[in-house]
Amino acid sequence: MNKMICTLLSMVMLAMTTPVMAALNVFACEPEWASLANELGGERVNSFSATTAFQDPHHIEARPSLIAKVRRADLLICSGAELEVGWLPMLQRQAGNTKVLPGKPGYFEAAAMVKRLDIPAEIDRSMGDVHASGNPHVHLDPSRLLTIAEALATRLIKIDPNGIDVYQQRFNDFKLRWQQAMNQWRKQADPLKGKRIVVHHRDWVYLFDWLGIEIAGALEPKPGLPTTAGHLVALKKSLAAKTAAMIVHTTYQNPRAAKRLSQMTNIPVVELPYTVGGDKEVKDLFGLFDVTIKKMTGVLQ
Ligand SMILES: [Zn+2]
Repeated sequence: MNKMICTLLSMVMLAMTTPVMAALNVFACEPEWASLANELGGERVNSFSATTAFQDPHHIEARPSLIAKVRRADLLICSGAELEVGWLPMLQRQAGNTKVLPGKPGYFEAAAMVKRLDIPAEIDRSMGDVHASGNPHVHLDPSRLLTIAEALATRLIKIDPNGIDVYQQRFNDFKLRWQQAMNQWRKQADPLKGKRIVVHHRDWVYLFDWLGIEIAGALEPKPGLPTTAGHLVALKKSLAAKTAAMIVHTTYQNPRAAKRLSQMTNIPVVELPYTVGGDKEVKDLFGLFDVTIKKMTGVLQ
């Protein structure tokens, strides 16, 4: 009898100390991918983002704490198309985690799942072009994001087959809510159709492509290169011939150049969140597009 009680007690103790099934460790290069992993994985994933909305994802420091995170990761989700070429390969080398190297199921590149824009006819890296493999800012097109979500759900199932029911159910639920939101965003953004907008960096090509907005110019003479006084003068001249509705920059960019051009042209400046966390109202991917479209249409009124 005593022996039985002892066994029962030890079983109870074991149940209390054994953690619930370990979640999949997801290392996202940017907040949008951590957010997408949460949408699709729920409690089966434990996601971490290497950058915040206030850091330039083209250039971050490969800190030792990030190496440790890559070492423990089951899955890396990054934009790809060379966005992280300045820091991710180093993290992968230092971490020594073969599961998450390029070509392995544990490495997921979002830009590889969709058709990219801005693919240069000829590559001239000497000019400092950070978009030599095409534009990597793919998350800012809601329709491409859905394609990426489907590919990511498939990948999660491959890495964690026991979770197939969870991933499938969560993807279907996400798809339904996302399609409804896309219809809403299109309607809300209708006044922006055909408008011309000046950008700081070409982060916005995918969203503008989706909404029928024209890029009236970029504050950077080439992606990744700083603005020059001469370039601003040339922009002012071209805007005098054909004006723009606004000048946009993201939370991770210095607003100085945008403000300068605004002073020169009287065109209003809008700061946009770029990714999850870029504004206190942007808590997930839905909030990202809600706030972005609200801020852009707000300038027109
Ligand atoms: Zn870029």
